[in-house]
Amino acid sequence: MSVVYDLIIIGGGPAGLAAGLYGARARMKTLIIEKQKMGGQIVITDEVANYPGSVHEATGPSLIARMLEQCDEFGAEKVFDDITGFDFSGTTKILKGKHNTYEGKAVIVATGANPRKIGCPGEKELTGKGVSYCATCDADFFQDLEVYVIGGGDTAVEEAMYLTKFARKVTIVHRREELRAAKSIQEKAFSNDKIGFLWNTVVEELKGDGILEKIVFKNVKTGEISEVEADEEDGTFGCFVFTGYLPQAEMFAGTLDMEGGYLKTNDNMETNVPGVYAAGDARVKSLRQVVTATADGAIAAVQAEKYIEHME
Ligand code: NAP
Repeated sequence: MSVVYDLIIIGGGPAGLAAGLYGARARMKTLIIEKQKMGGQIVITDEVANYPGSVHEATGPSLIARMLEQCDEFGAEKVFDDITGFDFSGTTKILKGKHNTYEGKAVIVATGANPRKIGCPGEKELTGKGVSYCATCDADFFQDLEVYVIGGGDTAVEEAMYLTKFARKVTIVHRREELRAAKSIQEKAFSNDKIGFLWNTVVEELKGDGILEKIVFKNVKTGEISEVEADEEDGTFGCFVFTGYLPQAEMFAGTLDMEGGYLKTNDNMETNVPGVYAAGDARVKSLRQVVTATADGAIAAVQAEKYIEHME
């Protein structure tokens, strides 16, 4: 642990990469620590139509590839490690990972959020065996099969449209009778004749012997239980779950102020601990998008730079 970084960023999604870019451009010795795969949730998104300027090749992976290139260009260091502990009590902040311990003058927590699970019996056992949380990753397994998409938000409806390129039929299953998704997204889905809807419905159970074969639904208005079974010829179908995301910030509970599991910051991305900032989806905010994540990352890095200047 001999190296003391100026800025350590936990998380390599859009917020973390923007913070890395701004940190490195400000000539801070900057380290981005990512647990699994650089890019965060956006790398599992097929289309990024609402990030300003993202017109050609506007896919999640291509956008992230360009962000990474920029970080490299300005010399931000990157490492893969899973941060499991921390000590923010001293002048420099300590982060303990599974592989190493890191020390920095300022820290930006950009840990993002994970897909929310349905939480029903069978979900865990059948994940990767018909149950998926990523259309870009798994859509091609369902070529010419039937697919159910759970959720009614932007992600569910956009990914349902993407899935129609593969599946023979896609049914959006929503717990209410009105979608949450933006009207412009809804309109496209309503005019797509491969998409059907199952309203006021939730998943009670996922069943199958090693592969998804049946879904048990409940109508929340009538209480009626129904079961759909994969076509005998198909043997299986897909169940893609897009019911929102949960922040990955539990580790900081008790040290950093939170609201509903999300990290609380002021407009400068400052948490209640001086020198510790939060950026992106893990933060309390009204709009969780790439554009707001990158803005958070930029603000946090600029504020970290000011904080470090005052330290010295
Ligand atoms: P979301 O907006 O939180 O929507 C989650 C959906 O899942 C809602 O329809 C919700 O139902 C449903 N749901 C939640 N818990 C459920 C449960 N236990 N059982 C059944 N259904 C459940 O999440 P999101 O669609 O992933 O979007 C997250 C954020 O990213 C949003 O701010 C969204 O605008 C943004 N986003 C934007 C774009 C775009 O603009 N192109 C694309 C993707 C995501 P209710 O509606 O009844 O609450």
